[in-house]
Amino acid sequence: MKKIIIGNWKLNLDHLEAIQLLQKLNYSLEVDIEDNIDIVLAPSHTSLRSLQTIVDADKLKIKISSQDVSAYQSGAFTGEVSASQLCKLNIGYSIIGHSERRTLFNESDEIVNLKVHNSIDNKIVPIICFGESEELRNNNEYLPHIINQVNSSVKGIRKDKVEEIIFAYEPIWAIGTGKVASTEDAIEVLSAVKEEISSKPYYDQDKIRFIYGGSVSPTNATELLNSKIIDGALVGGASLDTEKFVQIIKSIKL
Ligand code: PEP
Repeated sequence: MKKIIIGNWKLNLDHLEAIQLLQKLNYSLEVDIEDNIDIVLAPSHTSLRSLQTIVDADKLKIKISSQDVSAYQSGAFTGEVSASQLCKLNIGYSIIGHSERRTLFNESDEIVNLKVHNSIDNKIVPIICFGESEELRNNNEYLPHIINQVNSSVKGIRKDKVEEIIFAYEPIWAIGTGKVASTEDAIEVLSAVKEEISSKPYYDQDKIRFIYGGSVSPTNATELLNSKIIDGALVGGASLDTEKFVQIIKSIKL
Protein backbone atom coordinates (compact mmCIF):
# COMPACT_ATOMS: atom_id res chain seq x y z
CA MET A 1 0.00 0.00 0.00
CA LYS A 2 1.36 3.44 -0.93
CA LYS A 3 1.89 5.46 2.25
CA ILE A 4 0.30 8.88 2.69
CA ILE A 5 1.40 11.84 4.79
CA ILE A 6 -1.18 14.56 5.35
CA GLY A 7 -0.28 17.96 6.82
CA ASN A 8 -3.14 19.61 8.69
CA TRP A 9 -2.28 23.31 8.90
CA LYS A 10 -5.39 24.08 11.00
CA LEU A 11 -6.17 27.79 11.52
CA ASN A 12 -2.71 29.06 10.56
CA LEU A 13 -1.19 30.99 7.63
CA ASP A 14 -2.79 33.45 5.25
CA HIS A 15 -2.85 32.51 1.58
CA LEU A 16 0.49 34.20 0.82
CA GLU A 17 2.21 32.34 3.66
CA ALA A 18 0.54 29.12 2.54
CA ILE A 19 1.92 29.57 -1.00
CA GLN A 20 5.42 30.08 0.43
CA LEU A 21 5.16 26.94 2.56
CA LEU A 22 3.90 24.85 -0.36
CA GLN A 23 6.79 26.03 -2.53
CA LYS A 24 9.36 25.46 0.20
CA LEU A 25 8.07 21.94 0.69
CA ASN A 26 8.08 21.25 -3.02
CA TYR A 27 11.72 22.34 -3.35
CA SER A 28 12.68 20.15 -0.40
CA LEU A 29 11.30 16.91 -1.84
CA GLU A 30 13.04 14.67 -4.32
CA VAL A 31 11.14 13.17 -7.24
CA ASP A 32 11.40 9.57 -6.00
CA ILE A 33 9.79 10.54 -2.69
CA GLU A 34 6.87 12.26 -4.41
CA ASP A 35 6.44 9.26 -6.71
CA ASN A 36 6.31 6.76 -3.87
CA ILE A 37 4.53 8.61 -1.08
CA ASP A 38 1.30 10.57 -1.36
CA ILE A 39 1.79 14.00 0.21
CA VAL A 40 -1.32 16.02 1.01
CA LEU A 41 -1.61 19.50 2.52
CA ALA A 42 -4.75 20.81 4.23
CA PRO A 43 -4.68 24.63 4.47
CA SER A 44 -7.52 26.96 5.49
CA HIS A 45 -10.37 27.39 3.00
CA THR A 46 -9.01 30.82 1.96
CA SER A 47 -5.78 29.22 0.67
CA LEU A 48 -7.33 26.30 -1.20
CA ARG A 49 -7.75 28.08 -4.53
CA SER A 50 -4.22 29.57 -4.54
CA LEU A 51 -2.54 26.29 -3.64
CA GLN A 52 -4.58 24.14 -6.02
CA THR A 53 -3.88 26.61 -8.86
CA ILE A 54 -0.12 26.27 -8.25
CA VAL A 55 -0.41 22.49 -8.06
CA ASP A 56 -2.34 22.39 -11.35
CA ALA A 57 -0.22 24.98 -13.17
CA ASP A 58 3.16 23.56 -12.13
CA LYS A 59 1.94 19.95 -12.21
CA LEU A 60 3.10 19.34 -8.66
CA LYS A 61 2.59 15.90 -7.16
CA ILE A 62 1.61 17.34 -3.79
CA LYS A 63 -2.16 17.14 -3.29
CA ILE A 64 -4.48 19.58 -1.57
CA SER A 65 -7.19 18.82 0.98
CA SER A 66 -9.77 20.93 2.74
CA GLN A 67 -9.95 20.73 6.53
CA ASP A 68 -13.70 20.32 6.50
CA VAL A 69 -16.71 20.22 4.18
CA SER A 70 -20.34 21.10 4.66
CA ALA A 71 -22.93 18.48 5.56
CA TYR A 72 -25.25 20.38 3.19
CA GLN A 73 -25.19 20.56 -0.59
CA SER A 74 -26.45 24.10 -1.20
CA GLY A 75 -28.94 26.64 0.08
CA ALA A 76 -29.42 28.81 3.15
CA PHE A 77 -26.38 27.67 5.16
CA THR A 78 -24.38 30.86 5.73
CA GLY A 79 -20.66 30.32 6.08
CA GLU A 80 -20.59 26.77 4.76
CA VAL A 81 -18.44 25.43 1.89
CA SER A 82 -19.92 22.52 -0.07
CA ALA A 83 -18.26 19.42 -1.49
CA SER A 84 -19.29 20.42 -5.02
CA GLN A 85 -17.61 23.83 -4.57
CA LEU A 86 -14.42 22.08 -3.46
CA CYS A 87 -14.70 19.63 -6.35
CA LYS A 88 -14.96 22.53 -8.80
CA LEU A 89 -11.61 23.79 -7.43
CA ASN A 90 -10.08 20.33 -8.08
CA ILE A 91 -9.62 19.66 -4.38
CA GLY A 92 -9.18 15.91 -4.02
CA TYR A 93 -9.43 15.31 -0.27
CA SER A 94 -11.27 16.55 2.80
CA ILE A 95 -10.55 15.95 6.47
CA ILE A 96 -13.86 15.02 8.12
CA GLY A 97 -14.75 14.64 11.80
CA HIS A 98 -11.49 15.95 13.26
CA SER A 99 -11.77 15.84 17.05
CA GLU A 100 -11.47 19.62 17.18
CA ARG A 101 -14.62 19.86 15.07
CA ARG A 102 -16.39 17.17 17.06
CA THR A 103 -15.61 18.75 20.44
CA LEU A 104 -15.41 22.50 19.72
CA PHE A 105 -18.18 22.65 17.09
CA ASN A 106 -20.45 19.86 18.39
CA GLU A 107 -20.11 17.76 15.27
CA SER A 108 -22.10 14.55 15.75
CA ASP A 109 -21.58 11.16 14.13
CA GLU A 110 -24.64 11.90 11.94
CA ILE A 111 -23.10 15.13 10.65
CA VAL A 112 -19.81 13.33 9.96
CA ASN A 113 -21.72 10.71 7.98
CA LEU A 114 -23.48 13.39 5.86
CA LYS A 115 -20.11 15.01 5.14
CA VAL A 116 -18.63 11.67 4.08
CA HIS A 117 -21.58 11.10 1.71
CA ASN A 118 -21.25 14.59 0.21
CA SER A 119 -17.51 14.13 -0.32
CA ILE A 120 -17.83 10.77 -2.00
CA ASP A 121 -20.67 12.03 -4.20
CA ASN A 122 -18.30 14.77 -5.38
CA LYS A 123 -15.23 12.55 -5.90
CA ILE A 124 -13.46 13.97 -2.86
CA VAL A 125 -11.58 11.42 -0.77
CA PRO A 126 -12.78 11.62 2.83
CA ILE A 127 -10.09 11.51 5.52
CA ILE A 128 -12.30 10.27 8.34
CA CYS A 129 -10.96 11.03 11.82
CA PHE A 130 -11.93 9.13 14.93
CA GLY A 131 -10.40 8.46 18.33
CA GLU A 132 -11.00 8.24 22.03
CA SER A 133 -10.63 10.66 24.95
CA GLU A 134 -8.08 10.03 27.68
CA GLU A 135 -10.91 8.96 29.98
CA LEU A 136 -12.16 6.27 27.59
CA ARG A 137 -8.59 5.02 27.16
CA ASN A 138 -7.96 4.90 30.92
CA ASN A 139 -11.24 3.04 31.46
CA ASN A 140 -10.33 0.60 28.69
CA GLU A 141 -13.52 1.55 26.79
CA TYR A 142 -11.87 2.92 23.68
CA LEU A 143 -12.39 0.11 21.17
CA PRO A 144 -16.23 -0.03 21.25
CA HIS A 145 -16.31 3.79 21.04
CA ILE A 146 -13.98 3.81 18.03
CA ILE A 147 -15.81 1.03 16.19
CA ASN A 148 -19.08 2.89 16.74
CA GLN A 149 -17.57 6.15 15.39
CA VAL A 150 -16.21 4.35 12.33
CA ASN A 151 -19.44 2.49 11.58
CA SER A 152 -21.50 5.66 11.94
CA SER A 153 -19.19 7.62 9.65
CA VAL A 154 -19.62 5.25 6.72
CA LYS A 155 -23.30 4.34 7.22
CA GLY A 156 -24.99 3.91 3.83
CA ILE A 157 -21.80 4.19 1.78
CA ARG A 158 -21.92 1.91 -1.25
CA LYS A 159 -18.81 0.26 -2.65
CA ASP A 160 -19.61 1.20 -6.26
CA LYS A 161 -19.34 4.89 -5.36
CA VAL A 162 -16.17 4.75 -3.30
CA GLU A 163 -12.90 5.46 -5.06
CA GLU A 164 -10.83 5.81 -1.92
CA ILE A 165 -11.32 6.32 1.81
CA ILE A 166 -8.75 7.18 4.48
CA PHE A 167 -9.42 6.24 8.09
CA ALA A 168 -7.34 8.29 10.52
CA TYR A 169 -7.01 7.12 14.12
CA GLU A 170 -6.39 10.25 16.17
CA PRO A 171 -6.59 9.68 19.93
CA ILE A 172 -7.73 13.00 21.41
CA TRP A 173 -5.14 12.80 24.20
CA ALA A 174 -2.37 12.67 21.60
CA ILE A 175 -3.40 15.66 19.47
CA GLY A 176 -1.13 18.64 20.00
CA THR A 177 0.03 17.30 23.37
CA GLY A 178 3.38 15.72 22.52
CA LYS A 179 1.99 12.42 23.93
CA VAL A 180 2.18 10.09 20.95
CA ALA A 181 0.43 6.71 20.98
CA SER A 182 2.79 3.77 21.04
CA THR A 183 3.12 1.88 17.76
CA GLU A 184 1.46 -1.11 19.48
CA ASP A 185 -1.54 1.01 20.54
CA ALA A 186 -1.94 2.46 17.05
CA ILE A 187 -1.67 -1.01 15.50
CA GLU A 188 -4.21 -2.45 17.92
CA VAL A 189 -6.81 0.19 17.02
CA LEU A 190 -6.12 0.27 13.28
CA SER A 191 -6.23 -3.55 13.07
CA ALA A 192 -9.61 -3.57 14.83
CA VAL A 193 -10.95 -0.89 12.48
CA LYS A 194 -9.57 -2.70 9.45
CA GLU A 195 -11.23 -5.95 10.55
CA GLU A 196 -14.54 -4.14 11.08
CA ILE A 197 -14.37 -2.39 7.72
CA SER A 198 -13.33 -5.55 5.87
CA SER A 199 -16.62 -7.14 6.89
CA LYS A 200 -18.58 -4.40 5.07
CA PRO A 201 -19.72 -4.53 1.46
CA TYR A 202 -18.09 -1.18 0.66
CA TYR A 203 -14.63 -2.38 1.56
CA ASP A 204 -12.07 -2.53 -1.19
CA GLN A 205 -8.65 -3.54 0.16
CA ASP A 206 -6.68 -1.61 -2.44
CA LYS A 207 -8.44 1.70 -1.97
CA ILE A 208 -8.65 2.11 1.79
CA ARG A 209 -5.81 3.40 3.94
CA PHE A 210 -5.57 3.31 7.73
CA ILE A 211 -3.38 6.02 9.19
CA TYR A 212 -2.37 7.45 12.56
CA GLY A 213 -2.35 11.05 13.82
CA GLY A 214 -1.41 12.67 17.12
CA SER A 215 1.94 14.33 17.95
CA VAL A 216 3.77 12.67 15.06
CA SER A 217 7.29 14.13 14.93
CA PRO A 218 10.68 13.29 13.39
CA THR A 219 11.53 11.49 16.65
CA ASN A 220 8.68 8.98 16.60
CA ALA A 221 7.86 8.77 12.88
CA THR A 222 10.30 6.04 11.86
CA GLU A 223 8.77 3.35 14.03
CA LEU A 224 5.15 4.34 13.38
CA LEU A 225 5.43 4.81 9.65
CA ASN A 226 7.39 1.69 8.85
CA SER A 227 4.81 -0.61 10.37
CA LYS A 228 2.93 -2.61 7.73
CA ILE A 229 -0.40 -1.89 9.41
CA ILE A 230 0.00 1.92 9.49
CA ASP A 231 -0.45 3.36 5.99
CA GLY A 232 0.59 6.90 6.86
CA ALA A 233 0.13 9.84 9.18
CA LEU A 234 -1.98 12.93 9.74
CA VAL A 235 0.43 15.55 11.02
CA GLY A 236 -0.65 18.79 12.72
CA GLY A 237 1.96 20.99 14.40
CA ALA A 238 5.02 19.48 12.70
CA SER A 239 3.53 20.05 9.23
CA LEU A 240 4.00 23.82 9.67
CA ASP A 241 7.76 23.33 9.93
CA THR A 242 9.07 22.22 6.53
CA GLU A 243 12.24 20.65 7.94
CA LYS A 244 10.32 18.56 10.45
CA PHE A 245 7.64 17.64 7.91
CA VAL A 246 10.24 16.53 5.36
CA GLN A 247 12.06 14.52 8.05
CA ILE A 248 8.77 12.76 8.85
CA ILE A 249 8.19 12.00 5.17
CA LYS A 250 11.76 10.78 4.72
CA SER A 251 11.50 8.47 7.70
CA ILE A 252 9.45 6.13 5.49
CA LYS A 253 11.75 3.45 4.10
CA LEU A 254 11.06 3.17 0.37
C1 PEP B 1 -4.07 16.87 14.09
O1 PEP B 1 -4.52 17.95 14.43
O2 PEP B 1 -4.66 16.18 13.25
C2 PEP B 1 -2.82 16.42 14.68
C3 PEP B 1 -2.47 15.19 14.52
O3 PEP B 1 -2.10 17.38 15.39
P1 PEP B 1 -0.65 17.20 16.05
O4 PEP B 1 0.22 16.47 15.04
O5 PEP B 1 -0.16 18.58 16.30
O6 PEP B 1 -0.82 16.39 17.28
